[in-house]
Amino acid sequence: EQGSYIGREAVAAKRKQYFYPCTAHFYRDSPQIVRGNMQFVYDEKGKEYTDFFAGVSVVACGHCNPAITERTIAQLQQLQHTTTIYLTQPAVDLAERLEEVLPGDLRRTFFVNSGSEANEGALLLARMHTGRKGFIALESGLHGRTNLTMSVTGLPMWRTDRYLDEDVTFIERPYHPELTLDEAAEISLKSLARVLEEKGDTIAAMIAEPIQGNGGMIMPASWYFREVKALLDQYGVLLIADEIQTGFGRTGALFAMEHFDVVPDIISMAKALGNGVPVAAFATTDEIALSLNRPSASTFGGNPVSAVTALAVLDYIRTEGLQERAASLGAHLKAGLKSLQERYPALISDVRGTGFMLGAELTGVDAAAAGALTDDILEEMKDRGYLIGKNGIDRNVLAFQPPLIVTAEDIDGMITVLDEVLRQVSK
Ligand code: PMP
Repeated sequence: EQGSYIGREAVAAKRKQYFYPCTAHFYRDSPQIVRGNMQFVYDEKGKEYTDFFAGVSVVACGHCNPAITERTIAQLQQLQHTTTIYLTQPAVDLAERLEEVLPGDLRRTFFVNSGSEANEGALLLARMHTGRKGFIALESGLHGRTNLTMSVTGLPMWRTDRYLDEDVTFIERPYHPELTLDEAAEISLKSLARVLEEKGDTIAAMIAEPIQGNGGMIMPASWYFREVKALLDQYGVLLIADEIQTGFGRTGALFAMEHFDVVPDIISMAKALGNGVPVAAFATTDEIALSLNRPSASTFGGNPVSAVTALAVLDYIRTEGLQERAASLGAHLKAGLKSLQERYPALISDVRGTGFMLGAELTGVDAAAAGALTDDILEEMKDRGYLIGKNGIDRNVLAFQPPLIVTAEDIDGMITVLDEVLRQVSK
């Protein structure tokens, strides 16, 4: 093993000393993770955790999966980096592979390094293509931390209060705890229609996650995005699908917009594409791609190491049937969460999502109490060897988004332990 470990207290102290004070913390007593092996990670004391968070949907093929890392390492030893003024094969092979799996006429790919950068590129592309400046975004969406992507981010905790781009109009998300999905989708659509009527000719694009991740695992009614797309088309407004969290099999479809039978104009992708190695992209049609009409290159975008890794990821997802696995085992996990909701109706108010993109919303006398309960459960689950996530506007949604390679036994084990923890906190 590499190096010796200074221990979690020392790491936390150094973070406090050298990182920006805003750096987010998840746990009260956060483990120092030093090693990963498929669905497991290990802390500095050798304790094993089953990972049900996958670094927020990233490590879809499992931690340090040799089927992928061996190809990454071989490329690292052969050629690490050069500029786009020379020709290299991995990036074009990857673009070709993406064209095979992208929906509709999407066949051009621009490579970058992070989700934020992919969305930033997609938003700029939409402006250049339409000659319009405005954007529409959904309440509680999350799209990144660059200026433009933060401007279209609806979640208050991920926005600065000032200095953001003002040409963004937010509409209601297609979810409301007291309404059916159909009713909430109607309200969201009415808002969209109103905004388009008022200023549709100034709007370049609407950006949306097909299933909101950080917003709390919000999956709209099945007809929602079809109606959205039809409305946008009337006004020449593009639809950007942010598939950064949902892409590459996690939801049981390769891209989550497939659940809604919609082909967006631009798709942004990141996270799972690299299984932990930075690689991201935005893809579009021949026609729209023409609008990015300035020489534009990314130093690291499409570098051979990232591209080879992404090719290995796509191979692995296909050969191991991970998309189908996410659909079937995700349904098994969801059924387990639903049975816990039946057992603890006073704690769990909703179980939602699809595939391995699942959330369990927790209740309390108020939002703060529900948030505190979520933290208690996360901490207790971690101590018992399970890493799960949390999200939602009130930070009160337990998030289950494991590597797609987890087994039915891992799931049953986690549900048994979660049952014990819920029993304990309900006392
Ligand atoms: N979009 C979505 C849906 C995300 O979940 C995230 C990251 N959580 C981003 C964009 C930003 O990606 P990155 O952190 O790679 O910039």
